[in-house]
Amino acid sequence: MNSFVHHKTIKPNRIFCIGKNYDKHIKELGGKQVPDEPVVFMKPLCSIVAPGNICPPPYGNELHHEVEVVLLIGKGGNNIPESQALTHISDITLGLDLTLRDIQKKLKLKGLPWERAKSFEESAPLGIFKKYQDMDLGNLPFSCFVNDDLRQEGNTGEMIFPVAKLIHILSGWWTLKPGDIIYTGTPAGVGPLQPGDRIVVESPKIGSFSWSLSHQ
Ligand code: MG
Repeated sequence: MNSFVHHKTIKPNRIFCIGKNYDKHIKELGGKQVPDEPVVFMKPLCSIVAPGNICPPPYGNELHHEVEVVLLIGKGGNNIPESQALTHISDITLGLDLTLRDIQKKLKLKGLPWERAKSFEESAPLGIFKKYQDMDLGNLPFSCFVNDDLRQEGNTGEMIFPVAKLIHILSGWWTLKPGDIIYTGTPAGVGPLQPGDRIVVESPKIGSFSWSLSHQ
């Protein structure tokens, strides 16, 4: 939650995360079907980590990076029409939806909820928010490097559910509130992290943020 120290006006409310929003990422995890509606899960606010250090979770063997474009809702609403959706975004940044892939696989096989794989402590590294303006959300390139190796390269133009549609659909299921945060899904290239790794996420118009995975 430290990153919000930099944000003077909006208090964080909830973290929505969108799963399976990029075709090639679905395929790399062995999925065959594109979802017909957004896959949504949540992380607690206390899982946010400002750029700096990340402590690995105390269980699980396969901690994966998932770089994502992250939005902050500035104006709430329900049943927001697609044509108005982008006016509800206040700020934008990049984040990591850290995932314990081995735990997630086990839970998926049993048809159980994903919290232990997705919502552990420090599972939501989050960059510093920047005012959302003059950006084409249909064409924003972004990437993730681990120890200077390019691991993920995506573009918001490849989303299965583009941002305006996501906000429209989410606001039909929940009344969106100022301070709601939306992780919009990860492109292909996810992979395991090791203690000591340095992870850098970047996008030309949003900025560059980094974390080091501690040895603990
Ligand atoms: Mg994700």
